[in-house]
Amino acid sequence: MASQTLPSPETLTPPSVGGTTPPASAPGTPDPEHDLAALFRLSNLSDLLETYLERSQLEVVHRAYLFGARAHAGQFRKTGESYICHPLDVAHMLAEMRMDADSIVAALLHDVIEDTRVTKEEMAAEFGEEVAELVDGVSKLTKMELENPDEAQAENFRKMMMAMVRDLRVILIKLADRLHNMRTLSVMAPAKRRRIARETLDIYVPIANRLGMNTIRLELEDLGFAALYPMRYRVIQDAVRKARGNRREVMQRLETAIKERLRQEELNARVVGREKHLYSIYRKMTTKGLSLAEVLDVYAIRIIVAEVETCYRVLGIVHNLFKPLPGKFKDYIAIPKSNGYQSLHTVLFGPPGVPIEIQIRTEDMNKVAEAGVAAHWLYKSSSDSGNTAHARAREWLQSLLEMQRASGDPVEFLENVKIDLFPDEVYVFTPKGQIMELPRGATAVDFAYAVHSDIGNSCAAAKINRRMMPLSTPLQNGQTVEIITSPVGRPNPAWLNFVVTAKARSSIRNFLKNLTRDDAIQLGRYLLERALGDLGTSLQQLAGTSIDEALAELRVETLEKLCEQIGLGQRPAVLVARRLLPQSEEQPSTEVPDASRPPPLSIKGGEGTVISFAKCCHPLPGDRILGFLTAGRGLVIHNQQCRNVAEFRKKPDKWVQVEWAAGLDQQFATEIRVEIDNQRGALATVAAAISELESNIEDVKTKERDGLHTTLQFVLMVRDRVHLARLMRRLRAIPAVRRIARA
Ligand code: MN
Repeated sequence: MASQTLPSPETLTPPSVGGTTPPASAPGTPDPEHDLAALFRLSNLSDLLETYLERSQLEVVHRAYLFGARAHAGQFRKTGESYICHPLDVAHMLAEMRMDADSIVAALLHDVIEDTRVTKEEMAAEFGEEVAELVDGVSKLTKMELENPDEAQAENFRKMMMAMVRDLRVILIKLADRLHNMRTLSVMAPAKRRRIARETLDIYVPIANRLGMNTIRLELEDLGFAALYPMRYRVIQDAVRKARGNRREVMQRLETAIKERLRQEELNARVVGREKHLYSIYRKMTTKGLSLAEVLDVYAIRIIVAEVETCYRVLGIVHNLFKPLPGKFKDYIAIPKSNGYQSLHTVLFGPPGVPIEIQIRTEDMNKVAEAGVAAHWLYKSSSDSGNTAHARAREWLQSLLEMQRASGDPVEFLENVKIDLFPDEVYVFTPKGQIMELPRGATAVDFAYAVHSDIGNSCAAAKINRRMMPLSTPLQNGQTVEIITSPVGRPNPAWLNFVVTAKARSSIRNFLKNLTRDDAIQLGRYLLERALGDLGTSLQQLAGTSIDEALAELRVETLEKLCEQIGLGQRPAVLVARRLLPQSEEQPSTEVPDASRPPPLSIKGGEGTVISFAKCCHPLPGDRILGFLTAGRGLVIHNQQCRNVAEFRKKPDKWVQVEWAAGLDQQFATEIRVEIDNQRGALATVAAAISELESNIEDVKTKERDGLHTTLQFVLMVRDRVHLARLMRRLRAIPAVRRIARA
C-alpha cells in the first residue's frame, strides 16, 4: 500500500540547504512531516513516480516537497488546504504524463519564486540550473496573468510564446497549473472566475490544441464553458443526461455489431463509444447553427488496434457493415494534422437512420491523440522513436521564432500566432503532385506564399483544378492549384482581407512597407500638381532653378523626397506649392481655377498603403466622401457625414477632394448594429443571412443589453451602399431582429 512508499524518516529530515533556510513553519500551518492532506498526495505521487523514475530522482522529488512546503508555510489555498497541496496536484498531473524528474521537481516548486522569498539563485543552488530555469519560466507566465489583461497583452503573449520556445516543459507545467486552478475555480469570486475562464478559452485551450494535448484541452474547455456560461452549460448538460438513456441502447447495438464483425475477421480491437463534450456540442450549435437535438443525434465510436495496417482493414470492414456517407472519409494517418494527430475518420449511416462517426487508430496514435507532445516524453531524446506530435511541435516553435524575428511588432506577432493556433487544415496539390498543407479557409494567395514568397509577391491569377478562379477563392481538400505569376505583379493590400496564413500576411505586409514609399511619392506628386494648378502653374512649367532653391530652403534633398513627405501628410501641398513659386509670383493667383485643374482624386479601394478608409465612419461607394491628410498615415477617406468631418473642415489645407471611381469590384468594410431578441440560434440566423447575401463578417461584438435583447455590432464586407441596403432589408425580415442601423 501507499505507506510503503512514504519517505523514510531520513529523507524527511530537512536537507542541509546551502545557505538557504526556507522560513520555519508559520503558526497554523501543519509541519510538512505531519500535514496529512499533503502527505497523502505525496504518497500517491511517489507511487506513480516509482514506476518510471530512479530511486535517486525520487529522493530529489521528496526534497523538493519539503523545500516547497516550508517556503509556502503560512499560505493556504482558497479551498482551505495548505498551499503545498496545489503544487503536489500539479506534479501529479505531470507524473500521469510521465514527465521527467526535473519537470516534477519544478512543478512542486512552481509558485515558490512568485509567492515566497526564495530567489532563483537559491533554487538553482539547491536543485540545479535547469529546475530554476523552468520555475522562472512558469513564474513569468504567472506574472503576466496578474497584470491588466488589456495592457500590453500582445507583448505578454509574445513573451509567453518565447518562454515556450526555449523549453516546452514550461508550458506543460503551466497547462497543468492552469488545469488544477480551473478544477478548483468555484472558490473564486465570480468576476475573477470569469476572467480566468475567458483567458483559459482564449489562450490556453488553443495552445493545448496546437500541442495536440487533447485530454487537457477538452477538460479546460468544459471547465471554462461552465464558468463563463453557467446557464447554457446546465441546459446542455441536462439535455445530454436525458438523451443518454435512449442513446445507450442504440450505442450498445452498434458496438456489438462492430465487435461481432471484427471477431469474425479475427481482428483484435478495442471498440469504445464516445460521448461528446459539452463545449464541443455548444460550439457545433453556434458555429453550424444546429439545434441541440441535431448535434446530439450523432453517434461516435472509436476503434483502437495494434498495427497501422489493421486500421485500413478495419475501415474496409466497417464500410461493408454500414453504408459510408460519401465525402466524409479522411486519412489523417497518411497526412497527420499539424499537431501530429493521426487517425482514420469516416462517417457511416447506421441502422436506426443515424450518422455514426468512426475513428480508427493504433494504441500509439491514441496516446498521441490524447497527450500530444507529452506522449512518450521520456523517449523524446532518442531521435526517431516516433512521436510525430513532438516533431511537429518543434517545427512549429521554430517557425514562431522566425515569425518573431520577421515581425518585431508584438501586435502583429500576436495576430500571426493566433492564426496559427487554430489549425483546421486543408490539403491541396501543386501541379507536380506535391501535397501542401494549409489552414482551412486558405486561399490561392496563401498557397502561392506557401510555395515561395517570390511566387506570392508576383502572383497574378490562379487555376484551381485547371479553371481560372479568383485569387481569393478558399481552397478545398484535394484540389490542384496552379499559380500564374506576372513580372509586374505585386501584392495587393486588399489581399490582407482574405489571406489566412501567417506567412502570407507577414510577407504582404513587409512588401507593402516598402511600397508605401512609392505610393506616397505618387500621391504627393498628384497633390502637389493639384495645388500648383490652383496657382496657375505646374511642375513642368517650374522645372529647374526655382524648385532647386525651394528644396534647399526646405532642407529636402530631392523632389521625390518632398513628394513622399506630402503624400504621407507630413507637409501640406498648398504651402509647398507656394514655396515653389518664384518670389515675384508668390501671391496666390486670384483666378478662378481653369479647366486644366485636375478632377477630384478618384478612389478605387486598395490603391495602396497611403490611402486608407476611416474606421470611424467606414465609407462605402455611393457615400459622399472626403479625403483628409493625416501625418504618418497618408490620405484617410471619410464619409462626409462622419462626426469627425466638421473638425476637418477647419483645416482646408489638409483635405483633398475625392470621389469614387466608376465600376468598382472591391469589397469595403462597413459597420452595422443589430439588436436581436435573446433566443437560441438568433446570432446564427443573422450570420447565415449575411453570408447568403455574399458578404463576409470581419468582426462581431456582442453586448447584452438586458436579459431580453443583445446588440450585435458587425463589421461586414460589402460592395457598396446598394449591397448594404439589400443586406439590411434581408436582416430586418428576420423575426428575432428588433432594430438595425448603420453605425
Ligand atoms: Mn500554481
